[in-house]
Amino acid sequence: MAEEEKEEIKSFKDLGLCDELEEACDSLGWKTPTKIQVEAIPHALEVKDLIGLAQTGSGKTGAFALPILHALLECHGKQGYKSAPAFFALVLSPTRELAIQIVEQFEALGSGISLKCAVLVGGVDLIQQQIAIGKRPHIIVGTPGRLVDHLTNTKGFSLRMLKYLVLDEADRLLNEDFEKALDDILNVIPRDRHTYLFSATMTKKVKKLQRACLRNPVKIEAASKYSTVDTLKQQYRFIPAKYKDCYLVYILTEMSGCTCMVFTRTMYIYGFHSNM
Ligand code: AMP
Repeated sequence: MAEEEKEEIKSFKDLGLCDELEEACDSLGWKTPTKIQVEAIPHALEVKDLIGLAQTGSGKTGAFALPILHALLECHGKQGYKSAPAFFALVLSPTRELAIQIVEQFEALGSGISLKCAVLVGGVDLIQQQIAIGKRPHIIVGTPGRLVDHLTNTKGFSLRMLKYLVLDEADRLLNEDFEKALDDILNVIPRDRHTYLFSATMTKKVKKLQRACLRNPVKIEAASKYSTVDTLKQQYRFIPAKYKDCYLVYILTEMSGCTCMVFTRTMYIYGFHSNM
């Protein structure tokens, strides 16, 4: 899109989205599209494959969810999604937490139009998920391992009619050893589909995945709105994994008197005042 055109974009409607989705964004308090949404949505509406270099916090979920919902609505008229086909889009996420956040955004954006979603992640009862699959949702969001589990064991579940595949946080999907599960999924979905790949970094493995499953993609980059300020001092310690607890205690002792926050891989533990 030309620079002058981007300048003029003030609303989701300017990006080419239908009234229903503009209203849905408005009801979520999304007044104007974020950078990644401005860059990605017009290409996605031209039914092109996309690679988005963007992090969580950039509005990337909206950047892929809105064009998928637009396509679903366009195919199936203004009565909403009741008559729309099941299993229209699949979003793969590396973690349960991210999958749940993604499904929540789809549900919020589709709440006025009878959208059905299912989240298929590990650590949750299989039967409950089979019941959700039986309701023939339009959108499936899941982690690769659990999805393969259902493709193998859940009667009547097939992705042969899938129209959209989203690989979210592709760099993490590949780091978490999901390569085999990804291959299994790619083997049972149609080649003739649209694919969106989002990743914070473009690693060798991500490039390989891109070559395997995207067709002439448009590449979009959006710097995170959470880039750090120049005055922030950042340091890292390269440590043996098995001694990390010990190093953590050492660092907290060193920083005695300061306020600290400790983050773990999937969960925020606590913020506290270190007085060790
Ligand atoms: P994401 O990067 O997709 O994880 O989104 C981060 C947060 O930004 C979520 O809480 C979204 O609800 C919110 N968000 C996404 N798009 C917009 C927008 N256009 N305006 C305001 N907030 C947004």
